Amino acid sequence: MAGLKGLAYFNLEHIPTMPQFAMESSPLSPLSNWDAVDTLLVDMDGTLLDLNFDNYFWKIHVPTRYAEANRINFKQASDLIYPHMLAIKGTLNWYSIHYWSDYLELDIVALKNEMAHLIQPRPGALEFLEVMRHHQKRLILTTNAHPDTLVIKFSQVRFEHYFHHVITSHQLGAPKETCEFWQRLHENIAFEPSRSLLIDDHAGVLSAAQKFGIENLMTIHQPDLQQPAQGNNGFYPIEHFNQIMPGNL
Ligand SMILES: [Mg+2]
Repeated sequence: MAGLKGLAYFNLEHIPTMPQFAMESSPLSPLSNWDAVDTLLVDMDGTLLDLNFDNYFWKIHVPTRYAEANRINFKQASDLIYPHMLAIKGTLNWYSIHYWSDYLELDIVALKNEMAHLIQPRPGALEFLEVMRHHQKRLILTTNAHPDTLVIKFSQVRFEHYFHHVITSHQLGAPKETCEFWQRLHENIAFEPSRSLLIDDHAGVLSAAQKFGIENLMTIHQPDLQQPAQGNNGFYPIEHFNQIMPGNL
């Protein structure tokens, strides 16, 4: 595993640059009462689902299969793939199965299916969605995941029925890290930004949504349960969904 040394903190969505999470400087919860929110915008990978699948897939599984296909070793494969991942980070191509299938000449859908057993909900996530539905909240899944990835994830974790809308950035033509995504989402689905809560593990996504005008924003303390928590990114961190259940705020 020596080849993984430089990839220790790599994941598909973000590369943490902050020090270990500092509980004493955590922001206060933006919500004191669920009555202030009627729409919940919620991310999938690293928020409702454990980011371990995505990290393992891109850090381990893809370089392994690329090395086999090209008769090179794991480190050589990682050294070829990783710089290009960094170069297109945050673009729609970064999140596109078709792009990576063409670029690597690998069947990324087939490879994801090989590892689908690693797709798991985060603790309390499905119960949280259930309670939000019970409290009449409008649930919108907002994700950068490619539609083909959504099919794989929904086949592994049956939770699509909780959502009134499922929106991927590929449908809207802009990644969630941009204001354009949120503007286009608002044009397509009527919601009141001042009465909405976005939960997303990605600080860049939260910042873009904040610029657009979404009032309530929360992040995830430890998106990948096999990795250290991410640093304090300025947004209120959820360690377990129990902490924001109605009655616990
Ligand atoms: Mg995410």
